[in-house]
Amino acid sequence: RTPAPCAMVIFGASGDLTRRKLMPALYNLALEGLLPPGFSVVGYARRDLEHGTFRDQMREGVNQFSRRRPVDPDMWEVFEQGISYVQGTFEDPGDYERLGQELRRLDRERGTQGNRIYYLATPPDQYETIVDNLGRAGLNKPGEAGGWTRLIVEKPFGRDLQSAMVLNDRVLRIFEEEQVFRIDHYLGKETVQNILAFRFANGIFEPIWNRNYIDNVQITVAESIGIEGRGAYYDQSGALRDMVQNHMLQLLSVIAMEPPIAFEADAVRDEKVKALRAIRQVDPARVDEITVRGQYSAGWVGGQPVPGYREEPNVDPNSMTETFVALKLFIDNWRWAGVPFYLRTGKRMPRRVTEIAIQFKRVPHPLFRGAAAESLEPNVLAIRIQPDEGISLKIAAKVPGPQIRLRSVNMGFLYGTSFLVESPDAYERLLLDCMLGDSTLFTRRDETEAAWRPITAILEGWAEAPPPLFPNYEAGTWGPPEADEFLARDGREWRRP
Ligand code: NAP
Repeated sequence: RTPAPCAMVIFGASGDLTRRKLMPALYNLALEGLLPPGFSVVGYARRDLEHGTFRDQMREGVNQFSRRRPVDPDMWEVFEQGISYVQGTFEDPGDYERLGQELRRLDRERGTQGNRIYYLATPPDQYETIVDNLGRAGLNKPGEAGGWTRLIVEKPFGRDLQSAMVLNDRVLRIFEEEQVFRIDHYLGKETVQNILAFRFANGIFEPIWNRNYIDNVQITVAESIGIEGRGAYYDQSGALRDMVQNHMLQLLSVIAMEPPIAFEADAVRDEKVKALRAIRQVDPARVDEITVRGQYSAGWVGGQPVPGYREEPNVDPNSMTETFVALKLFIDNWRWAGVPFYLRTGKRMPRRVTEIAIQFKRVPHPLFRGAAAESLEPNVLAIRIQPDEGISLKIAAKVPGPQIRLRSVNMGFLYGTSFLVESPDAYERLLLDCMLGDSTLFTRRDETEAAWRPITAILEGWAEAPPPLFPNYEAGTWGPPEADEFLARDGREWRRP
């Protein structure tokens, strides 16, 4: 599958995302020979840069962040021929005329055939301005050379349901839904795509993937890092908006969805939307029954002292923003009725780990009791998204010896040992899919809005509830003690990944 020749315009090209993720991903695609002939990147941002300076900055980014380092000079020489820079502001329509000229030059000189991708790697409050100006300049439509145009929108997509709907309306005034690629990079991860393979390419799991066998599902996204210089953004966002609305509800939807009728964009997304729509409506007045919020104080992570959240740069010293959240959701359909989905995410946790644990019910009639089975845990299927990517299944086994004694052991699959190839970065997969016009791994309008519905109700509930006593967990711990009590009330515990 090689895409048609095209040009990618990156709005906000002097920013962090471009240097850290987008350019390394494009360079790796070039190394793999997956980019189309004549592929070109146009960086667009406010500061005045020569083409050469921009290329050098991009090379530095690749050198620092690419999974394949250092840059191969011969490869780079060819790749950088396709990189140019247009200085402009997002607000000035005249600057888009110059962008149009640059794109027409690329059609003529590099054969990009009028095919364009616009990537919004900018602060989110700029999305509407850029989209409007693309429309005004006619850049949303094929030019004289014909071709297609596509738009990639970064997260966060709105701040709540209302603003997401307004943004969707604005974008869809200028672009058709088929042209819009809302990115959630979790869907580009091999391990997340593998959930679909695991569930729908194996005959033995789907029959037990339901309320008859599953006791609860736990999804953990733990980060050991703090806010990494992004205080101004994070303090306005918080863990619920930053992690749960997008990445975690995407994980939940691939775990909970019904089998799609085909592995095609709309068939897959139809089923994900159905799962998201089935999330039980949250009552804002009872939000404290289904959520726990946390904010970290100073502590130790990885043997290093780290400051508390309120001491971080660009964070309000009295900030009430949550850096940890745990919540319980129910999916009201036949498959999942009564099965709690526990989600938790936090910053400054003891380690970085993303894991989905499917906890099965205990056997209906225990043959082995007392001392024989005292350390026996129920079956758990743990899907490790990162790091140490793989899947393990906890089962009961007999300890060798003359008596019957049982212990839980793990059967495992690890990417690292089963496949001796390195997994591509999520952005590589997603950028390539967009060039190919495949939106299976991007979120559709209705999906984004369905994910905002429960999150917005929680935000409303929090706004009315008495303020939490922040900070309430020490950096380097698994969150506030209330998060453990939260599960203990249901007679359960968090799995320690
Ligand atoms: P950033 O570092 O703040 O970069 C912003 C970019 O926008 C800069 O290139 C800046 O140009 C340009 N810009 C801002 N206002 C402008 C204007 N009025 N006219 C022209 N250019 C303007 O942002 P980022 O961290 O790369 O993030 C971009 C997006 O990706 C955000 O939506 C973010 O939430 C999302 N995201 C980022 C990451 C990450 O790792 N950074 C991860 C996931 C998602 P100048 O500097 O030249 O002024």
